Amino acid sequence: MLKLKNVSKYYYQDGVIAAGITKINLELFLGEFVVITGESGSGKSTLLNVLSGLDTYEEGEMYINGEETSHYTEKEYLEYRQKYVSNIFQNFNLVNSYTVYQNIELAMLMNGSKKKDIKDKVNDLIKKVNLTKYKKTKVSKLSGGQKQRVAIARALAYDTPIIVCDEPTGSLDSKSSKSILELLANISKDKLVIVVTHNQNEIMEYATRLIRMHDGKILENRVIQKINLDASLQEKSAQKISMLAKLKLGIRNTFNLPVKFMLMFFIFCFIILTLVSNYGGIEDSENTESLYGINQYFYNTTDKRIILKKKDNSSFNEEDISKIENISLIDYIVQNDVLNDQYFYLNNKNIYLDGTLYLKKIDRVDIGNLPKNNNEIVLISNKDNYYINDIKDELLNKEFSLDSYDLNVKIVGILYLDDLDFYVTNFYFNDNLINQIMPYVNREYTNLDIKIDNKPIDYADILVSNKLLDGEIYISENYNAYCSNYDCHNKEIEINSHNIYKQNKVIFTNINTLNKKNYNNYLNGDYEDNNSYFIVNENDYNKIYSNQDNYQISVFIKEYKDLNEVAKTLNNMGYNTLKLKDTKINDLNQIMQILKIFKLIITIILLITVFFISYFVIKLIYKSRNNYYVTLRSLGCNKNDCIKILRNELLTFVNVAYLVFIFLVILINNNLLKFTYLETMIKYLTYKEYLLIYLILIILSILIANRYGKKVFKNSIMKNYGERI
Ligand code: ADP
Ligand code: MG
Repeated sequence: MLKLKNVSKYYYQDGVIAAGITKINLELFLGEFVVITGESGSGKSTLLNVLSGLDTYEEGEMYINGEETSHYTEKEYLEYRQKYVSNIFQNFNLVNSYTVYQNIELAMLMNGSKKKDIKDKVNDLIKKVNLTKYKKTKVSKLSGGQKQRVAIARALAYDTPIIVCDEPTGSLDSKSSKSILELLANISKDKLVIVVTHNQNEIMEYATRLIRMHDGKILENRVIQKINLDASLQEKSAQKISMLAKLKLGIRNTFNLPVKFMLMFFIFCFIILTLVSNYGGIEDSENTESLYGINQYFYNTTDKRIILKKKDNSSFNEEDISKIENISLIDYIVQNDVLNDQYFYLNNKNIYLDGTLYLKKIDRVDIGNLPKNNNEIVLISNKDNYYINDIKDELLNKEFSLDSYDLNVKIVGILYLDDLDFYVTNFYFNDNLINQIMPYVNREYTNLDIKIDNKPIDYADILVSNKLLDGEIYISENYNAYCSNYDCHNKEIEINSHNIYKQNKVIFTNINTLNKKNYNNYLNGDYEDNNSYFIVNENDYNKIYSNQDNYQISVFIKEYKDLNEVAKTLNNMGYNTLKLKDTKINDLNQIMQILKIFKLIITIILLITVFFISYFVIKLIYKSRNNYYVTLRSLGCNKNDCIKILRNELLTFVNVAYLVFIFLVILINNNLLKFTYLETMIKYLTYKEYLLIYLILIILSILIANRYGKKVFKNSIMKNYGERI
């Protein structure tokens, strides 16, 4: 039962106050079919909006089942509407991008109905309003009469005791009008149906009460058919909107408008790209900066290299190596670390080549063959290395002397690698050749500190004879001067060897003198006075130069971004690590520091700008969806639920855009897609940055949803309808 007592509603517009309705007194009951007529501007719509809680009133009192409503808050109005009132609007206020089914379903979702109840009831209602054929048609494609029938079905699905229709037949031809009115009359049996019309004739056969209005006042209030008046309003039982329903609507809204979808998708992609290129850009310029740095000890200063030593300075054993090999982020290990930083010169009559070794295993060549025999090597260069390209026919299967190693090698293959600089050549040696040259390399690199009987000597040339026992040494005669009585027999010789890679100590106690008589037992050639030889056997020789030991190795990681993580892992495993990246000295360092601060400031400004641009663009798009959210609201959806539906929609966009991004990353990382810019940028991203970007997107969506939700609920429903764009 609805009752109005002296109710007035005023409109304020441009500083002018206009009366919508003045001092209305009225009582309406369940079972009535109330027809309100009057000329345009007489206050019919205003009265309806007040009755249905779509708009507020300024004076008087409206009673619902005897309860006063003038103190009602927004929330209480919403509850009142949810329990009692459905509206059928003159302009339908359907969701145009939804199908007939989805529009009717929406009302039931807002009621919190169960999934299994929804399907049957919606189908029933579609049948009742004779739209079965159009069940899956988008509402935007329907005629006015069909839309009106959808609106009626939606009102019925919403299942409230009061149904309010403002000019339901206003824009329809007489045939459709008649069928709509019959439908309404049919449902008015156990409801209160209030219909506004300015065409009284077509409706009078159904009416039980006629109200005629003029200038905001009631001129006539006449009962036409008596009905049983004792039924009081029964509020409808409604549940909360289920989470699943909110998720479903959010996802549906993401995809149902293709143009909006594309726009939003691009905005989110734009945000992701900006975040990625900002982060990647900073990392990249830092990386470039370190590339220009130099280091006087190391030739191979790639940022992917980490040098390892054991914390107790002992030699690496097989167990160490296999443990390190198990770290999946590592690309390869170079055990003869010194080879990384060794320069090689190859020479035949007219060609001269120089370069470092390529120490990762190769399993193919582009020209020629992989090495089979000991002295065969492969030359590696960039495809665009014009020097090599010019002479490549003169290189293959030619002998070269390996300067300072007393060895000849033969180039049997050429391999092109893109990631080499175009002016660089590398050589690939097989394991046998490496074993052959290692003693030379070690010897060349190693400094010896020798003490005879604890007295340091300047120099000794250490030679090998396999006629000696372990621990036995022959020294040139003149070294005896370091021992008392010119006799070193029972004394001690200590040889400390050291280079930047390793250090080692070998002690000899079995000391003999090399003289003219025994010289040719051990060495070829002629004896000379004043020679400065130490002769040891091969085993001891290898000990001195640590030929069998690895005190230092290098690991090369697969991707630069994992540098810190791998270094940390190795540290935790008990190794001291040195990232080559940190060893480089760059003269520009100070300027770079200042630039870095600038870059940081610019980044922050850029990020804030992106945030706001995206925020406003998204808001603009959503403003155009005002209608949708006001429609939800008129179906009793409260602020929190509206925000949640919008949030679900935005999060779906975020997830779609993010998934596409991740998909791109996977394609690029697997070389299935070439996108150089993105490739440079993502190589610096670790899972932490991926997570951070995702979080920023989520926060952005939540902020937008909250802001928007507050805006939709700032004004009364009718006012918001007016605001739609
Ligand atoms: P009807 O539906 O009978 O045509 P309305 O209820 O729409 O009449 O209008 C009643 C009076 O209130 C009219 O004078 C109209 O100009 C005024 N009015 C209606 N809506 C507004 C509004 N949103 N702002 C200002 N004045 C309004
Ligand atoms: Mg009107």
